[in-house]
Amino acid sequence: MSSRVRVRFAPSPTGPLHIGGVRTALYNYLFAKQQGGDFVLRIEDTDQTRYVANAEQYIIDSLNWCGIPFDEGPGKKGNYGPYRQSERKHLYREYTYWLVDNNKAYYAFDTSEELDVHRKDHEAKGKTFIYNWHNREKGRLVNSLVLSKEEVQHRISSGEKYVIRFKNPEGQTVVLNDIVRGRIEVDSNVLDDKILFKSDGMPTYHLANVVDDHLMEISHVIRGEEWLPSLALHNLLYEAFGWKKPEFAHLPLLLKPIGKGKLSKRDGDKLGFPVFPLAYKNEKDGEISRGYREDGYFPDAFINMLALLGWNPGTEKEIYSLDELTKDFDLARVNKSGAKFNPDKTKWFQQQYMQHTPNENVANKFNAILLEKGIEKPIDFIETIVGLVKERAVFVDDLWNLSSYFFVAPESYDPKASKKQWKEGTSELMNELIQKIEQIENFSSENVESEIKAWITSKEIGFGKVMQPLRLSLVGALQGPHLFDIIHFIGKEETISRLHSAIEKLG
Ligand code: GLU
Repeated sequence: MSSRVRVRFAPSPTGPLHIGGVRTALYNYLFAKQQGGDFVLRIEDTDQTRYVANAEQYIIDSLNWCGIPFDEGPGKKGNYGPYRQSERKHLYREYTYWLVDNNKAYYAFDTSEELDVHRKDHEAKGKTFIYNWHNREKGRLVNSLVLSKEEVQHRISSGEKYVIRFKNPEGQTVVLNDIVRGRIEVDSNVLDDKILFKSDGMPTYHLANVVDDHLMEISHVIRGEEWLPSLALHNLLYEAFGWKKPEFAHLPLLLKPIGKGKLSKRDGDKLGFPVFPLAYKNEKDGEISRGYREDGYFPDAFINMLALLGWNPGTEKEIYSLDELTKDFDLARVNKSGAKFNPDKTKWFQQQYMQHTPNENVANKFNAILLEKGIEKPIDFIETIVGLVKERAVFVDDLWNLSSYFFVAPESYDPKASKKQWKEGTSELMNELIQKIEQIENFSSENVESEIKAWITSKEIGFGKVMQPLRLSLVGALQGPHLFDIIHFIGKEETISRLHSAIEKLG
């Protein structure tokens, strides 16, 4: 086996990818890139009952959107394919039979009804039924360890259903090493003889996963904590095959915002945040789940947030580009305890990225929204507007609410402000202002400001009397950046037209 670092992300295509899964993919990606290794995507689709057709594409799209594409996997060239387990069935069969032939696994013919009887029997005595060394050869269980060779052959050839179980060693201390959790010892006597091959001719996760990790020369298995209980079996399988084990790192769970229990879609629905990277339509019931992409998050903000959910860089630094993450990420600094998901902090990351993304890039995104609304403006104009209002924006969508008046006349006027600012005499004053504006030739922000201010002074009235109704006419509310910047950007004709509309509607 080569010493090259090769890691894999091995999701089962059972639905949309949870953000916990995205984090697993991210840590794999970061580690691979840091070590100059390969990041493999393997689709673990051996459980036909849970298979969802659009899930694989969803997973691929999610990784691409996050900016963490795989090097090898379905649809990409690689020397270790195929990368879908359903296309590797023949291999699993071959390796399972090798285990049987070498007395490391055995046929078991017990029906599920029979196993139920054993389970209930044990429960009645306050015990738990485990299929293993303790009872597998006592005669009550029906398997190839107690039946004669002929009997086993006869049962198989007459079409009787069977499974193949792993023959766990008796009385052995299994020593596990995990990069995150350190050394763990497990007594092999408490393990059950897990099924490796099912009666439907498909391997179970355990067998397929270990065979593939070996054949694909995976050097490091980085996966969720929920697989830690399987680690002893996986280690024993490597030993049974006589294969070199990869290194393992089990990542902490993503917890609910309150800190207890695994983060679920229900938490997101209840508290108003997505738990999936992309929106997802469930083909069965048509239900649409929200996604970070559609909610307006930038992928690099999303990735930055996820990277810090479980990894502690050991400094105060929080904003990391993907390159910086690749450089600084350290598997040994991944926390053992679960990481509490914090929706407010997630938004904070997006806000930081919005503020630090160059106006030019934000303008390109904003332009797409404007074009959808049928508004076509030069990109440098949009960029300037972005610069004026971005400070208060978290998402690109916010920019429209903050700056729509630069592009279109207000459709309505804030009623409270209208009542307060549009008084007796305001319409007349605004008509006079229109005449004044008509005479202004140089429409730079500074010149309009000085001319209008001089005009107000000459009339000996308070500034507010003019400025507030003027702002209301142009913006529809008493908000927005410097008023004379707005006037400059929308131009003379539009300023006058909006004043006329306001006089008509509010006067
Ligand atoms: N197919 C497993 C899953 O869906 C993969 C676990 C592993 O990485 O070993 O999570």
